[in-house]
Amino acid sequence: MTIVGLDDTDSRERGMCTTYVATRIADRLRTENEVSRLLLVRLNPAVEYKTRGNAALAVHTDCDADRAFEIARGALESLSETADDRTNPGLVVTDHGPASIPHPVGSFARDAIRDHLEIDEAESLIDARGYRSWHAGNGRGRIGALAAIGSWRALEEWTDEYISYREPERWGTSREVDRESVFAAAEEEYPDVWDTVDRVEGEAVCVPHTPGPILHGIRGDDPEAVERVAAAIDSEPVASSQRFRTNQGTDAHLREGTISAARDGWSYRLDGRVVSAPETRRGGHVFFAIESLEDHADRDTDGDRRAVESEPDRLECAAFEPTKRFRDRVRELRVGDRLTVCGELARGTLKLEKLAVRDLVETELVTPTCLECGRTMESAGSDQGYRCRDCGTTAPGKSEVPLERDLEVGWYEVPPCARRHIAKPLVRGGFDGPIHPER
Ligand code: ATP
Repeated sequence: MTIVGLDDTDSRERGMCTTYVATRIADRLRTENEVSRLLLVRLNPAVEYKTRGNAALAVHTDCDADRAFEIARGALESLSETADDRTNPGLVVTDHGPASIPHPVGSFARDAIRDHLEIDEAESLIDARGYRSWHAGNGRGRIGALAAIGSWRALEEWTDEYISYREPERWGTSREVDRESVFAAAEEEYPDVWDTVDRVEGEAVCVPHTPGPILHGIRGDDPEAVERVAAAIDSEPVASSQRFRTNQGTDAHLREGTISAARDGWSYRLDGRVVSAPETRRGGHVFFAIESLEDHADRDTDGDRRAVESEPDRLECAAFEPTKRFRDRVRELRVGDRLTVCGELARGTLKLEKLAVRDLVETELVTPTCLECGRTMESAGSDQGYRCRDCGTTAPGKSEVPLERDLEVGWYEVPPCARRHIAKPLVRGGFDGPIHPER
């Protein structure tokens, strides 16, 4: 068995798509050998070099490594958009199958999904394992290629995407896809098939807008259901199609962490309490801050634990304008609510992908009203409570009143139109609380 890993063949302006190159390699391999599966692996979404979704590809085949290398190299050389100097294709080919991926190659894949890696780290691992490799440009694509190889060992959770490709002469022209058939097919197979459309925005999210070869990509948990949805869509002719196993919709990028230790370029699941009310800023982006829930204890010089009155750790969170109606949920948050927030930390701000409301503040303190006349009382002076000037009634302090909340305990998420490829839709389940899925 052999694994072919490849990455970085496409360009933002010029099109192409590494899934297409992998499909072409698989087609060539199939003329002489078996291809058992294709993997579409989403790596760290925070990586600056990505063209769009930071995808890397792997092909599992029983072809011998030399022949597979020759075929894959031919495909990369002819199809990669190397005229764009930001396209740095990489190819890595193993002489072992998916059941024998070495531990360090699995770890490399895990790091590529959650961290930032250097080209030399890929190079030294490729050399140490004696893998065949090829690259153009600076060879950065070998990071993704090696990660795609290791992913089968690193990851436990896999979903499916069934991609249909356009006839090459149509690439770059607008796609002819019947919207109604997309919405009907999506409805039919939901929730086994998800993120096909955004019903509220009226958007067929499975149809890309970029100049590349993809007509549509159908994602889900059931390989037959994704294929059925693709088949039910009326459109221009489909030139070819391919099913990929993927880590899309799995949250493989998130790590557990604490607010104090969180760092830029990593993605987290973090607990905290709202300490500043949501504020909508220019551009429609909504910001609020949370504070760590932990006891702020420190050690004094004798080593005894003691509470210190230091500033607790604080983190700004943002629901950006493209997250649309998710911002309405975020605007409902109140100071004191207890949350778990998920997303990427970038320049000190957590870009929200989803959040769990753990505990809602149910009351608020307000200036008391006079029981005689019903008017709001006034302060009677510092620490002297409140009084009604007209009736002479008094109250010792603020009164606690119920707070109307238009939010429930449980998980809320950005809508399908704003979903990151790797982020897990709530409808997939497995969350530690009630869910409020968007579709
Ligand atoms: P598309 O979604 O259109 O296929 P892309 O978004 O996948 O494009 P690439 O063109 O593949 O983007 O570029 C990503 C580059 O970043 C690749 O060269 C890949 O090897 C590299 N890369 C991926 N993950 C990491 C990482 N964790 N650390 C450093 N480099 C990475």
